[in-house]
Amino acid sequence: MLTIDNLHAAYGKVEVLHGISLEVPKGKLVTLIGSNGAGKTTTMRAISGMIKPRGGKVLLAGRDITGMESHRIARAGLAHSPEGRRVFATMTVTDNLLLGAFPRFTRSRPKGDVQHDLERALELFPRLKERRTQLAGTLSGGEQQMLAMARAVMLNPDVVLLDEPSMGLAPILVDEVFRIIARLKTEGVTMLLVEQFAQAALNVADYGYVLENGSIAVHGPAASLKNDPKVVAAYLGGA
Ligand code: ATP
Repeated sequence: MLTIDNLHAAYGKVEVLHGISLEVPKGKLVTLIGSNGAGKTTTMRAISGMIKPRGGKVLLAGRDITGMESHRIARAGLAHSPEGRRVFATMTVTDNLLLGAFPRFTRSRPKGDVQHDLERALELFPRLKERRTQLAGTLSGGEQQMLAMARAVMLNPDVVLLDEPSMGLAPILVDEVFRIIARLKTEGVTMLLVEQFAQAALNVADYGYVLENGSIAVHGPAASLKNDPKVVAAYLGGA
């Protein structure tokens, strides 16, 4: 569904991604883990058009979306829930969610039933349901993070990029976010998940990639990465 081939990205003269390749098959949950500064967020940005790749290819359902503007990539069917809770503070929860569906109306594919999808998103995120008429700017940080995720799902996308959905959340909310991710997976949503919590990410994912200094160091089925001594030592707090 999503294929990344030899992706290079840089900020100014500093190259951050040195040719990474990865695959997110339809209906699968793939996680990208790695330490701070490895380039995980940069990978997400280069895929979704927030920055232009310096080289390589990004294919969405076989279509070349490399270097396209981000709004066109959203219309093509790729949703990005970015790091750091980007919600529209002066709009209600419901309006933020409806805005997430907006690119569907400029796509050539079926629009689907937005009202139905809104209800489904609110069922999935009960905290948001309780606060549907509240202005997004008045939500707690964790709730805003959930709203960013729910808004991405409202695009009804082919692929969702989730960048550190658990960042800065209290442990109880981290658990809730991972439960929601697992539920989305059972519903067949195709996802690429970037996470600091490598253990939790590998528990829920089908397949994992480990990014080190802008290159993929190891990849494999999540279950085997969890038992890879190098991965355990470096990312899972083992010895
Ligand atoms: P973290 O988990 O800490 O967010 P990450 O793996 O997501 O880390 P990136 O945010 O992709 O890492 O950063 C990769 C490298 O690129 C880092 O060295 C970072 O300092 C650098 N970098 C990120 N954003 C910019 C920017 N806007 N301008 C210049 N350098 C940047």
